[in-house]
Amino acid sequence: MTHHAHAAPALETLKALLRVDTTNPPGNETPAAQLLAERFSGAGLEPRLLHKEPGRDNVVVRLKGQGAGPPLLLTAHLDVVPAERDRWTVPPFDAVVQDGWLWGRGAIDMKHMAAMSAHVLLALQEEGVALKRDVIFAGVADEEAGCAAGSRFLVDQHADLVRAEYALGEVGGFPLDIGPVRYWPIQVAEKGAVRLTLTARGDPGHGSMPHGQQAVLRLAAALASLGGARLPLHVTPPVYRFIAEVARRQPIPAKLVLPLLLHEKTAPPVLDRAIPPHLRDGFAALLADTVSATVLRAGERVNVIPSFATAQVDGRTLPGHTGATLAEEVRDRVGAEIEITIDSDEPPTVFPADTPLFTVLAETLREADPNGVPVPYMIPGYTDAKAWARLGTTCYGFAPTRFPAGSVAFNKLYHGHDERVHVDGFLWGFGVLYRAVKRWCT
Ligand SMILES: [Zn+2]
Repeated sequence: MTHHAHAAPALETLKALLRVDTTNPPGNETPAAQLLAERFSGAGLEPRLLHKEPGRDNVVVRLKGQGAGPPLLLTAHLDVVPAERDRWTVPPFDAVVQDGWLWGRGAIDMKHMAAMSAHVLLALQEEGVALKRDVIFAGVADEEAGCAAGSRFLVDQHADLVRAEYALGEVGGFPLDIGPVRYWPIQVAEKGAVRLTLTARGDPGHGSMPHGQQAVLRLAAALASLGGARLPLHVTPPVYRFIAEVARRQPIPAKLVLPLLLHEKTAPPVLDRAIPPHLRDGFAALLADTVSATVLRAGERVNVIPSFATAQVDGRTLPGHTGATLAEEVRDRVGAEIEITIDSDEPPTVFPADTPLFTVLAETLREADPNGVPVPYMIPGYTDAKAWARLGTTCYGFAPTRFPAGSVAFNKLYHGHDERVHVDGFLWGFGVLYRAVKRWCT
């Protein structure tokens, strides 16, 4: 299959973006935003660079349609998480092409989508395609640290520039091989993000005379109780649909076993024995709220037993759940002695999967892979969709890419060492995104 004429230029733009170190913190997204703005200006479009903090520009551009249809927003964040340079096979900011892959921090999370989206606009502009709706592109800062200088800033301060009926962004359009079937998840929902602090108190003392009332030991026991077992199972509508549709396409016995994930008694043994290890944590995260203790603090001096110890906990909530319901589930595990405070509570987002645009996305994927099965999907993580949703936008994760079956554990590329995108898969994905957008807008 020959690729779209704009696929190769999109790849060059991706390489250029990967060479800009936008590690957040501090972000420094401006050079990446400028790089895209120059391409838009060169094609006669009028990009806007907008920032909340110096050095942290967002780039927004609109391709005008002639029709009265409500706009479509294509969106990607330009910042990346830190890379531990010495743990990588190749330098993470050199855009190395090796073994058919383009390596770099941000290759899949998610400068590939920024490059693809920008060039979809440029292709539609160059070809003079008559659009029945505007297509907006927003390349945003600061997603990896909570979106305050990026999508949230745009929604709060420049809503008219980014308001759209639908948005396409993170995470979806990647192959998910389960048994003999290749699925194409399209994100329709994401879990909520709740930050908790657990505090244990105890008696102070001298390190030379340990006693039984130590805050550190109480906190450690509480965290062990959280880490050792899953929180209660809850089946929510988007997950029910995902598992039901995945199961329907499987051969026996998986066809019969997977639905057992939807029942409290049978889910744990199925997770532990029937789901392959590389998919287990991802499936488990769809079926329960989760907590990860990430930042621990206690003590100032090595010879002083501290009187309190704290853990910051990254909590993720299912649709219908809140910080308060999560705190109750945590309370049941850690006991009454541990203080629990809710520091922040971002609700889950759930969008309908039975819309005309979802149908277009699924059809476009089916054309590109006649044996593949598009499925609506909930991610356990967090994206800019939370901000766009505040403008009433229906957000789908659709950043199409593919790679040879079994070559990588896709979910491990996110924030992992050796993040990379398959070169041919990127060129292919560009065509899928282009066709889906064109179909929706003409
Ligand atoms: Zn991301």
